Amino acid sequence: MDGIDKLTRHIYNEGMTLKVYVYQCKRCQHEWPSKLARPHICPKCKSPYYDTPRTRPPRAKVKPEPAPALDDSFNPIVKIARELQDG
Ligand SMILES: [Zn+2]
Repeated sequence: MDGIDKLTRHIYNEGMTLKVYVYQCKRCQHEWPSKLARPHICPKCKSPYYDTPRTRPPRAKVKPEPAPALDDSFNPIVKIARELQDG
């Protein structure tokens, strides 16, 4: 506690104003104070894009569509044959 008191007094005597910005990461919602005008990355998720919200939703794991089973309608010859039969 003594050390903290001395430090506080020291800063006061020096007349220093500590400008501390508080940033919030738009990616992980983490908030942190920083003396930097613009920190490079979010200290939590390490994203350099902490100040820009995601434009795209996080990529969901999309299951690849199973290839459609080939039936006769995909066969152009069968298709023509059917059209000839119908017509
Ligand atoms: Zn973050």
